Amino acid sequence: MIVFDLICRAGGHEFEGWFGSSDDFEHQQAAGLVDCPVCGSSSVYKAVMAPNVGIKSNQRTSSRPASSKQAEHLHPAEGGQAMTKAVPIPPEYQELVDKLAKAQAKILEQSQWVGGDFPEQARAIHYGEKKAAPIHGTATVDEVAELEDEGIDVMPLPLPVTPPKAQN
Ligand SMILES: [Zn+2]
Repeated sequence: MIVFDLICRAGGHEFEGWFGSSDDFEHQQAAGLVDCPVCGSSSVYKAVMAPNVGIKSNQRTSSRPASSKQAEHLHPAEGGQAMTKAVPIPPEYQELVDKLAKAQAKILEQSQWVGGDFPEQARAIHYGEKKAAPIHGTATVDEVAELEDEGIDVMPLPLPVTPPKAQN
């Protein structure tokens, strides 16, 4: 078995993949069988590996277990989520959130989850490379700024969305 550090093109997520051999990885990647555990994109590539000798400063981060690495990616890194610890939550606030959740669910009923592919897909639709269809997914602050620069309208969703894979 051989382990590769992999990065997905769509979201830049780093993850580790175990393969029988380097060829094994090549074949699986070509067949689209290697996908990102964070966003599900199968467009992945091998991270450039630095030789593990003499890079003392790097060792602490590279020896962390994969699980904590991945867990980090599951939480929004950019700016974080606005939080409050107001207790108790007033009923009218809870009611509002429930309404919002229902409205959002309605919006997303016809919409396809594309995960970290969102910026790519939104761009493809905007430039007519892909049939216009409602999509939703994730994008970083930078990616959203780029889309806006290109005149592509995107809207942040008021509530977090659980990726379909994570619901199982
Ligand atoms: Zn990804």
